[in-house]
Amino acid sequence: MKERTIVYRHGNGLYVNLTNRCPNSCVFCVRNAWKMDYHGHDLNLGGAEPSAAEVLREAGREWASAPFSELVFCGYGEPTMRVDALLECARAIRSGAAAPLPAGLRIRVNTNGLANAVWGRDVAAEMKGLVDSVHVSLNTPDPAQWAAIMRPEERWAANGFEKVKEFIRSAAASLPEVYATAVEDNGVDTEKFKALAAELGAKPRLRPRLDDGADK
Ligand code: SF4
Repeated sequence: MKERTIVYRHGNGLYVNLTNRCPNSCVFCVRNAWKMDYHGHDLNLGGAEPSAAEVLREAGREWASAPFSELVFCGYGEPTMRVDALLECARAIRSGAAAPLPAGLRIRVNTNGLANAVWGRDVAAEMKGLVDSVHVSLNTPDPAQWAAIMRPEERWAANGFEKVKEFIRSAAASLPEVYATAVEDNGVDTEKFKALAAELGAKPRLRPRLDDGADK
């Protein structure tokens, strides 16, 4: 069996590829067009998702070879589909049990914001004290446009946008840094988008189609 890419470097960060699963099929997602490759990293896990222990072992090995500025849960897939493994990693780091990773290591999550909907609980609040930053791919101020861009599974088509907004509000109340992101060239009203981000308590961030370690 070929070796899976569990962590990979991008910029000054170390990115964690927790899962290939996602409840969306965004128009801008390059997973398929790029055949699961990200700048030479094959992010196809082949269904064998890594455990928290494997992530921590790989991240610790990378840290020992050269420290990085942040640990980012991103990859080709939605990291909160593995929220329990994500939080287990973060708890181990914060408690100092994941040496050589430092307890104060900056932890970021790049997400589509559907975690509260998928899990039926306030996942954003559970990140309090564990996650430093979330970047939520909100993309638009308009619910119909959200459904057209994000192409969620049918069960989230009607109320997914509201659930993403709810996630951002909760994250903004719990975490030090929350960005609402939008891909630049999707025909979005950027002024309205920025206003909505501010209303939700997030900083707006417009980004190129792909610039952030993988796809969100
Ligand atoms: S861009 Fe992210 S949220 Fe959208 S389909 Fe790809 S993995 Fe899912």
